[in-house]
Amino acid sequence: MRGYPKSKALFERAAAIIPGGVNSPVRACRSVGADPLFIERAEGAIIIDADGNQYIDYVGSWGPMILGHGHPGVIAAIEKTLKRGTSFGAPADLEVTLAEMIIKAVPSVEMVRMVNSGTEATMSAIRAARGFTGRDLIIKFDGCYHGHADMLLVDAGSGVATMGIPGSAGVPAAAIEHTMSLPYNDMNAFTSVMTRSGDKVAAVIVEPVAGNMGLVPPKEGFLDALRAGTQKYGSVLIFDEVMTGFRVAYGGAQSLYGICPDMTCFGKIVGGGLPVGAYGGTKAIMSCVAPSGPVYQAGTLSGNPIAMAAGIAALTELQKPGFYEHLDQTASRLAEGLGRTAKNVAIPLTIHRVGSMVGAFFTPGPVNDYADAKTSDLERFSKYFRKMRGKGVYLPPSQFEALFVSAAHTDDHIDATIRAAETVFAELG
Ligand SMILES: *Cc1c(COP(=O)(O)O)cnc(C)c1O
Repeated sequence: MRGYPKSKALFERAAAIIPGGVNSPVRACRSVGADPLFIERAEGAIIIDADGNQYIDYVGSWGPMILGHGHPGVIAAIEKTLKRGTSFGAPADLEVTLAEMIIKAVPSVEMVRMVNSGTEATMSAIRAARGFTGRDLIIKFDGCYHGHADMLLVDAGSGVATMGIPGSAGVPAAAIEHTMSLPYNDMNAFTSVMTRSGDKVAAVIVEPVAGNMGLVPPKEGFLDALRAGTQKYGSVLIFDEVMTGFRVAYGGAQSLYGICPDMTCFGKIVGGGLPVGAYGGTKAIMSCVAPSGPVYQAGTLSGNPIAMAAGIAALTELQKPGFYEHLDQTASRLAEGLGRTAKNVAIPLTIHRVGSMVGAFFTPGPVNDYADAKTSDLERFSKYFRKMRGKGVYLPPSQFEALFVSAAHTDDHIDATIRAAETVFAELG
């Protein structure tokens, strides 16, 4: 039996002085009726809590750790750069190198600006798109999460979905007055809105593979419809690839599905586990950003040398031949194993996988949008989460989050996970 006295004591200290005891809501594990584990350290595919319990980690810091924890190449790059200083507030070579790597990986991006988080990337991209078009209206999709900027907190996924918070308190009606949220994967809804108001739409922002309502892939033709509709009315198509960038393929979801957006947002993997975001797009749009153009956006620590070094080292590893093929095989073993296991005991489970992102909904499905995702049996998910954690498998503590497989996961890790699920599914009955 695992004990958690140290995590419990740390959580008590934290809860008195940090809202909910955590610095990002889903970590609190409230929706699954558990307390958070405090993490002591992590190595490869394994995460170790303050009480010394070990887990196979499928959270991967919510996406960045595609190489596994403590990758030697990334750690070495950080250590080397650290000795040059930790922040200059002036340009340095590493920012240029990472920008070049992003542009080379994602050809729709001709210019890019570094920021410190995914939230900053999406809110800045929206501002640039509005500045470029001179329009206000933005379209997003229900269950997609684009960070916590006011105008994007409408029918959002991730923690907003998990907490059951309708949008958020503290967001003035005026801030979301120009935001419209449509059902994901609904081409007709999108096309009819564009026919009515396309000439007022500054930007359409989408997760090209939705990963914040659980994992929901785009239906055939959905992304094409977004591309065609935005092109027709001169609106900016923004792919929020904060999660999918360098994850589902080196060139992101846009390379996987062959769609060329006008702008792309990055975060997570691009920082190699350090706080980094980036937004980029065509030269015409990005030239609107200060000091080239009138759209203001800035950051004291943006392009931080240590974060840049970590990002460069991570991206360098990802370019090694066969990296994504191998990762996909590992993730496929997990998805197939979980599906087979659930079927054996007649538990309705809808499994999705895109590259190394895996989603498992406790519903017979199909799951094509947020309304479908919400038909999942959340009570059953909570039990599943708690029992799996008790067996040393660290899953995202929400039905509405994706699992991430890393290059450090071996077939043995996957098989141990499936064995744990076998026992747990049987107990769920
Ligand atoms: C995580 C995420 C964000 C927000 O990034 P933060 O670094 O948490 O601000 C935005 N968009 C998507 C698609 C994400 O997955």
